[in-house]
Amino acid sequence: MLTITETSTLRGGEWLLQSPAGDAVFTPERMTEEHRLIAQTAQEFVDNEVLPALDRLEQKDWALARDLVKRAGSLGLLGVDVPEAYGGVGLDKVSSLVVSERMARSASFGATWGASANLTVIPIYLFGTEAQKQKYLPKLLTGEIIGGYGLSEPGSGSDALGARTRATRQADGSFILNGEKMWITNGGFADLFVVFAKVDGEQFTAFLVERAFGVKNGKEEHKMGLHGSSTTALIFQDVKVPAENVLGEIGKGHKVAFNVLNFARFKLGAACAGGAYAAIGEAAKYAATRRQFGQPIASFGAIKHKIGEMVVRAYAIESLLYRTAGLVDARIAATPHEANDGSAALAAFEEYAVEASIAKVAGSEALDYILDENIQIHGGNGFVKDYPAERHYRDARVNRIFEGTNEINRLLIPGMLVRRALKGDLALIPAAKALQDELLGPPSMPSSDDALLADERRAIDAFKKTVVMVLGVAMQTYGQKLTDEQEVLMHIADIAMDAYSAESAALRAIAVSDTKSQRAPLHVDAARVFVNDAAMRIETSARQALAAMVDGDTLRTMLAAARRLLKVTPINTTVRRRRIADETVARGSYPFA
Ligand SMILES: Cc1cc2nc3c(=O)[nH]c(=O)nc-3n(C[C@H](O)[C@H](O)[C@H](O)COP(=O)(O)OP(=O)(O)OC[C@H]3O[C@@H](n4cnc5c(N)ncnc54)[C@H](O)[C@@H]3O)c2cc1C
Repeated sequence: MLTITETSTLRGGEWLLQSPAGDAVFTPERMTEEHRLIAQTAQEFVDNEVLPALDRLEQKDWALARDLVKRAGSLGLLGVDVPEAYGGVGLDKVSSLVVSERMARSASFGATWGASANLTVIPIYLFGTEAQKQKYLPKLLTGEIIGGYGLSEPGSGSDALGARTRATRQADGSFILNGEKMWITNGGFADLFVVFAKVDGEQFTAFLVERAFGVKNGKEEHKMGLHGSSTTALIFQDVKVPAENVLGEIGKGHKVAFNVLNFARFKLGAACAGGAYAAIGEAAKYAATRRQFGQPIASFGAIKHKIGEMVVRAYAIESLLYRTAGLVDARIAATPHEANDGSAALAAFEEYAVEASIAKVAGSEALDYILDENIQIHGGNGFVKDYPAERHYRDARVNRIFEGTNEINRLLIPGMLVRRALKGDLALIPAAKALQDELLGPPSMPSSDDALLADERRAIDAFKKTVVMVLGVAMQTYGQKLTDEQEVLMHIADIAMDAYSAESAALRAIAVSDTKSQRAPLHVDAARVFVNDAAMRIETSARQALAAMVDGDTLRTMLAAARRLLKVTPINTTVRRRRIADETVARGSYPFA
């Protein structure tokens, strides 16, 4: 088991109410040799074995896909999260993160790999009986069998609990499954599926269903992207599933589904980051060699702005992912558990479910922005298949749709914060009351502080207070009916995402500067640009949310309070983006790798 030095003990969502020291967060720069080794293994596998095979995978050569899954298994890339006792390699969540980042570059194969290594292996490891784990995990982890995850149905995607697939209990304790699942990754060739069905039409339950039990799949879907991964319907017509293949408890399928999603969202965020670094490298190389008006397009300010902004967004995502992995690992390490028992990891991902949703939404949206700009930098060449930019763009679009759409995840972010507050796990309500008093009192003059990024840290403090203020007003205004006010919830999610991203970026830049690294000034540039722009986005979201909730004098008072909080003096982002872009183009790669 790898260990990392994570000193922070913040609980889920608690970053909203506390300001950790710069050295209290895990950053990519603090990776151990073991983390780097597993990252290198994944990277070399993708570069040397998957990318050269991509065309054949896109022609739906599933025998090749199976071989590559086996090869990933032989390298330990299928069981990063699983203890050796079941055939895994039992590494920490930072390792899990670096593997997901690297596998993302394998395009469609990343989906094939993830549906088995994450969506099938993880539920069995977390919820399986000892017999189920012994029976299925070793084979899944060598790639001898391949997994798939059957949750969505034609009539129920986001509303997963509305599934209609039925499991009828038989006298001998077995179940007969009837129904249809939709858009199932690896549907065309997987051997084992985690399938959700309602026992006797009522109790939502997870099952382990082997293809050999009689599962049929529909035709391959014609998709916008990910052409090298299999996506089909699954058809269950009187499929008999033995009693011992219930996964978890009858009627508790939601626990399996939602907890697996907490893991999966975090890993999807990591995959998005991996795609982002790669695209930045492509954009930088292209901009250095493509000449127009007698000079490389990289010399134009408009292109520097794009490359600079692509890097800034990737930096923020990378920072929040490693910070979150550090929190999860610290929590697991602090929770007493047996070596082979996944309960501590399960509890840790439940604890940081808000952060996992942030990683998924912020990661997938940063990636789509970056891939869109990558096409723009490639001009006409971005629109044709001779260059990979158009494929990345198509492949990535689904990231905002699966693992819970970004709308569903945005609703979850404030929803889970409120739930934690009401359960007493997060002191949000006293913080909102204290903030109200502070804002109604006389303005306090900010103390002068010449510490690195002091202005940014003050701004981030204000971002967090803005979340507390707007969420506090929303809870007061709507009470139990807050869930009906989706537009307000979306704004709050946006503010919270920017606050977490901005703080993660700033804390990382401070941590790097403390080490006197030569690259520290570039880290500081990236963090400062992100914080500067986040301030403007947050002000817009806060104004919109407040105006939706209150009016007249109350609105005026609150807007004045928001303005007071968010009085952030703009910095010269142009000069900083240019520095970042120049360094990126000079290296021909994401400069923080
Ligand atoms: C390539 C691919 C691979 C996939 N792989 C798998 C897999 O392996 N296993 C699996 O089980 N599923 C898989 N899926 C399915 C995927 O998880 C669903 O498509 C996704 O959950 C969204 O469900 P839906 O398509 O029914 O959209 P809908 O739920 O119909 O949503 C449509 C729109 O309405 C919005 N919406 C829905 N409900 C609400 C609400 N309450 N409030 C606000 N807005 C709402 C959504 O955000 C979205 O914008 C895959 C999908 C694709 C495209």
